Amino acid sequence: MPNENYDNIFSNLAEASASNLKEILITPDQKLHDALLAASRATALKQFGNKIYIRGLIEFTNYCKNDCYYCGIRCSNNKANRYRLNKEQILSCCANGYELGFRTFVLQGGEDPFFSDEVLADIIIAIKKNHPDCALTLSIGERSLESYEALFTAGADRYLLRHETANPTHYSLLHPETLSLANRLHCLKNLKEIGYQVGTGFMVGSPFQTTDNLIEDLLLINKFKPQMIGIGPFIPHHDTPFRDKNSGTLQQTLRLIAMLRLMLPKALIPATTALGTIDPCGREQGILAGANVVMPNLSPVMVRSKYSLYDNKICTGEEAAECINCLRTRLQKIGYEIVIDRGDYQK
Ligand code: SAH
Repeated sequence: MPNENYDNIFSNLAEASASNLKEILITPDQKLHDALLAASRATALKQFGNKIYIRGLIEFTNYCKNDCYYCGIRCSNNKANRYRLNKEQILSCCANGYELGFRTFVLQGGEDPFFSDEVLADIIIAIKKNHPDCALTLSIGERSLESYEALFTAGADRYLLRHETANPTHYSLLHPETLSLANRLHCLKNLKEIGYQVGTGFMVGSPFQTTDNLIEDLLLINKFKPQMIGIGPFIPHHDTPFRDKNSGTLQQTLRLIAMLRLMLPKALIPATTALGTIDPCGREQGILAGANVVMPNLSPVMVRSKYSLYDNKICTGEEAAECINCLRTRLQKIGYEIVIDRGDYQK
């Protein structure tokens, strides 16, 4: 691709052909890589300034009925030390987070049948009552339309459900037969129609993933137009069937963050914990590649290491206050500032 065409292509990436996207994704040309990240960073700065939104992650259960081959809390991992937070514990995480400046809480967990709609609605109502100025995000997997509706009515505002891979065959190599891409996409459609702000995304470098799969991921996201996009490198967990697989790479993750930022300039894109796990400065590099969100952990320290999706997860020993202060300093060093804000999607 001749140099002078970069800017033109970057500014129209949402309309780019699959073959142009592929060329950018696999180019060994370091100049093109640098130009891509610079264009993406400029786009994020234009959209959000140097402001970074924070989301307080509360990992409230590691029980899961599913058996995803990549995930450390899959049901057949009988070495996982299972826990559930109760309502009081969850509310106390939120209160602590609120004090620290968080205005969005994310309840994430395995698909734990204990958390029925009734149990969850009660918790959601209590969080919204205590913190009416905060947004509440759920990340609890596939549920029925009725369930998503009940939780939205209770007060949940946003939902994260990564599609994981846009290719059905690849999907079947990552998940048992009981799970399908079709149902995942059906859930995403339901969530959007109900009125949630929706996030989707995928793992970079997951086992058996091809470059063409990644292009399918980009095209799916470009078409679905989620408000949030979560991507991070796959990292093996030692008690899963993928224990011997390689992690996704920093470079490829950064390149994909940049491409997604250029395709969907307004999207809320986190520099994920997984990115910070494969490289000590991964999250900073994610921000510099166009991400505009970080998701520090608000879970009680005693459960942090039990919520183990992959090996060597960072920040498992620190209190929430330490995490946010550490991140604030890290981001200041690269010229960015954490803000006290719900950080809603701006149409
Ligand atoms: N049960 C919820 C939350 C899953 S955890 C759901 O199904 O949506 C959130 C995300 O962590 C997953 O969507 C997956 O993309 C990611 N994840 C799981 N295992 C991982 C691993 N080994 N490496 C990197 N990311 C992983």
